[in-house]
Amino acid sequence: VPKPLVAGNWKMNGLRDSLAQIEKVAASEVLAACNVDALICVPATLLHSAAVMTAGTPLRIGAQDCHHQEGGAYTGDISASMIADSLGSHVIVGHSERRMGYREDDASIRSKTVAAHKSGLTAIVCIGETEEERLGDQTLDVLRRQLAGSLPDDVTAENTVIAYEPVWAIGTGRTASIADIAEAHAFIRSELSHRYDDECSLMRLLYGGSVKPSNAAEILRVENVNGALVGGASLVASDFLAICSVY
Ligand code: 13P
Repeated sequence: VPKPLVAGNWKMNGLRDSLAQIEKVAASEVLAACNVDALICVPATLLHSAAVMTAGTPLRIGAQDCHHQEGGAYTGDISASMIADSLGSHVIVGHSERRMGYREDDASIRSKTVAAHKSGLTAIVCIGETEEERLGDQTLDVLRRQLAGSLPDDVTAENTVIAYEPVWAIGTGRTASIADIAEAHAFIRSELSHRYDDECSLMRLLYGGSVKPSNAAEILRVENVNGALVGGASLVASDFLAICSVY
């Protein structure tokens, strides 16, 4: 069984004041006592400060997106090598807010994953169905297509994490049912094992979508759920730590 990972995604939230939350998590005895890897993906503006602040602590710092090129005329974007240079260790790619808001497709997410690996970052590749797709019974087809298209051939359990985030469960307070989470995660594990053999058995599969302290224990106990990708509840240190302390 892989070591679990609880990853926070601050999205477009957090000013320098919020670094106090990072400091609290990093210094927490609760975190030191948990058997979990902990990561918070902050906005690019806070990346380097947060990484410096947490050096030597159990908390890792990551980014929320990267461009697939290393540099060039891409106004507003940041590259994987910039994230690595800012001492980030992970980068989220293919979050549904980027797939939908910026029309990122599987091919572009795959090239971002390749770029992340090239810079030594662990890519957290997000997949998940919309509500319409779930109601149309297409969930597993969507997951299969997103996995096939978004993952390059060289993924390993070290350089890649998969996050299953049903789009309709993000920021809505609605979580997928335990049975649906179990089905999706078992399916993802089996798709990975067909394509990558043994290499994937230790790859972490995270659930994301309205995870909070009150539902974390039940969700994180599901087979093939190796942690969580936490949005809103990662903004407050005590909530994030409460989720980590399930482990
Ligand atoms: P919430 O936990 O706020 O639903 O967000 C989930 C998410 O999108 C994490 O990437």
